[in-house]
Amino acid sequence: MDKSIAERYREIEDRKNAAAVRSGRAPEDVVLMAVTKTHSADEINQAVSAGATDIGENRVQEMLEKYDKVSPVRWHLIGHLQTNKVKSIIDKVVMIHSVESIRLAREIDKRAGNAGKVMDILIEINSAMEETKSGIAAEDLRALTEEITSECSNVRIRGIMCIPPMAAEPEDARPYFREARMMFEEMKTWDLPAERFCPDTLSMGMSGDFEVAIEEGSTIVRVGSSIFGPRNYR
Ligand SMILES: *Cc1c(COP(=O)(O)O)cnc(C)c1O
Repeated sequence: MDKSIAERYREIEDRKNAAAVRSGRAPEDVVLMAVTKTHSADEINQAVSAGATDIGENRVQEMLEKYDKVSPVRWHLIGHLQTNKVKSIIDKVVMIHSVESIRLAREIDKRAGNAGKVMDILIEINSAMEETKSGIAAEDLRALTEEITSECSNVRIRGIMCIPPMAAEPEDARPYFREARMMFEEMKTWDLPAERFCPDTLSMGMSGDFEVAIEEGSTIVRVGSSIFGPRNYR
């Protein structure tokens, strides 16, 4: 890599801000999350020193290994979460982006209650109904949202997360982002208790397509390889 992580972070931040302004919003209304899977605490700290405030990890174990070595930031869990792992992250993350079942929501509710906190969550939507991806079908969003808000008093639904199918061109993702935005807007019309339901977060957009996602209404983009370089899975 010729450029440093800090330089790359600032470049992505500039592009994120420009896309926000282009879509009629203030730069601070769209959050840049640095996605750090496979990257070391040292690399994460380089991004933090360049201004990163929000860090996304996919795996619980990996996050726990780095947690104490990274300067204080807001951690987000963005990958598939097993119920038996909820306990170990409940006091460490500000938001869980990948809730896709009442079972998981109940476990989060229980553990958040024990920890004396309310956990912010997003419901993950599987836009294209790809078998290899997690997330629920669009038509199940309302039922799951109602089930969670009626049962879980220590959970607050903040919106939705979506990952469109892999695409060759950023523009290919636009229809999926637009659909997620429509679901998000519809969600805002639902009359549910505000302390458990406060839809203000639309988590979409990655390295290849985050500017398109912002144009379509994303409020938090999850960018990994454009900041940290390619991943070496071990
Ligand atoms: C890895 C990952 C990202 C970041 O992907 P890049 O293409 O490297 O930016 C975003 N969201 C989720 C859920 C991921 O697993």
